[in-house]
Amino acid sequence: MNVDLHCHSNVSDGVLTPEAVATYAHQAGVNVWSLTDHDEVGGTERARAAATELGMRYVPGVEISVTWAGNTIHVVGLQIDTAHPALVQGLAATRRGRDARGREIAEQLALAGVPGAYEGARKYVDNPDLMSRTHFARFMVETGVCASIPEVFRKFLTEGKPGYVPHRWASLPEAVGWIRGAGGIAVIAHPGRYKLSQTAHGALFDEFKQLGGAAIEVVTGSHTPDQYETYAEQARRYGFLASRGTDFHAPGESRVEFSLLPPLPRGVTPVWHDWF
Ligand code: AMP
Ligand code: MN
Ligand code: MN
Ligand code: MN
Repeated sequence: MNVDLHCHSNVSDGVLTPEAVATYAHQAGVNVWSLTDHDEVGGTERARAAATELGMRYVPGVEISVTWAGNTIHVVGLQIDTAHPALVQGLAATRRGRDARGREIAEQLALAGVPGAYEGARKYVDNPDLMSRTHFARFMVETGVCASIPEVFRKFLTEGKPGYVPHRWASLPEAVGWIRGAGGIAVIAHPGRYKLSQTAHGALFDEFKQLGGAAIEVVTGSHTPDQYETYAEQARRYGFLASRGTDFHAPGESRVEFSLLPPLPRGVTPVWHDWF
């Protein structure tokens, strides 16, 4: 079984339509699939229809932006009822403010010598509610400011760099509450990507567990191979289920393509262990 439970379409900051992501995943051998757009479930029905047509099992999902102790953390929700009112309202509230933030990002970039970034990034935005730093990054690669998306995030848009605008997302209790309220499973996305001290990492996992969080991503395109083992160990230690997904955004743009992502390491319980 090839399970990919973390992907983006142009309903958030991916470049392909939900149908095209389904086809792309299927061609790479995925047979259990979830579209987890940022703060948005608008692509679910299209994704489900395309997956079903291709013979893949579909898992309704989302990736929620969270502010925890001053850090941005992503929480994936899987097996959610995407029509659940509290979830729908919570996601809408989380999306609000992205456009104003985009304008502030552009103002900072202009001061740093990159003019026209709002309009430039906007060209890449298919869902007007979901302007993301990724759209700015694509614009800055297109215009030659940087050679690659990772380079943009090394030099701009992140803490301490031009174009970084602190933003208040959902709280951790809210995000986990919306997911669980919608019958879903809450998963900490790419835990290896957060710049937290060891103590803070432990506090995040403890609080998440206490709130009813059930899983962490172990094998993700956002982890290095070393981190697969590190977070498998953490999953065992905390009693979390383990998830797997590419965090696909665009062909050639993701760090690990679908077909190259390894399976979960031995000794962890997959988040999908009791789904089928
Ligand atoms: P936002 O939700 O607007 O803050 O944008 C976050 C998105 O930016 C993530 O979901 C990734 O798609 C992208 N991103 C953040 N950091 C990096 C990075 N270091 N390299 C590549 N993409 C990144
Ligand atoms: Mn993204
Ligand atoms: Mn993420
Ligand atoms: Mn993601």
